[in-house]
Amino acid sequence: MGVKIGVLAIQGDFREHKQMLLALGAEVVEVRLPRHLEGLSGLIVPGGESTTIGMLAREYGLEDAVRERVQASSLAVWGTCAGAIWLAKQIPQYPNQPRLGCLDISIQRNGYGRQVDSFEADLQIKGFDKPFHAFFIRAPLILDAGEGVEVLAEHKGDPVLVRSGKLWASTFHPELTNDPRIHALFIEQAARQLT
Ligand code: GLN
Repeated sequence: MGVKIGVLAIQGDFREHKQMLLALGAEVVEVRLPRHLEGLSGLIVPGGESTTIGMLAREYGLEDAVRERVQASSLAVWGTCAGAIWLAKQIPQYPNQPRLGCLDISIQRNGYGRQVDSFEADLQIKGFDKPFHAFFIRAPLILDAGEGVEVLAEHKGDPVLVRSGKLWASTFHPELTNDPRIHALFIEQAARQLT
């Protein structure tokens, strides 16, 4: 209650995230400018096209504004798919791609290759008693996760949901399911920022 979560609403499937958060009772703000971050305890960066999200976030001053809040430990951020790419410290293929770069993972865009551009899988997620049905859409592949990055779920041995403190990344799209468990967990994480 009383938790305000922002959804980066520059490009991508931010509406689906918004719907899920609203259904869980969170207050939701569409974030397009730095001033929209005021009063937020969490921010979700959606899937979409990571180059577009990265370039526009930089142009609108959001990259610096979010980084400041992250460094001050006052904002939980969860990136899904393209959003995970935006959070990643390293993109070896495209080292100059604009991004936040605060989460110590190395990621490869479209890392699952063309034949399997998109697939579905049932994931075992730490702390969940039932599997989570996940959609991977031209998903990035987490090549490496630094010390202090906790792997909450893997697919065929590769991390697909990771967390480092209040920074979360998933390479799949929980907002495209009817399963709100990860969103609920993220709201809890964000609420903890308030105390
Ligand atoms: N392939 C996209 C990218 O590299 C990400 C795909 C997605 O967000 N579903 O930006």
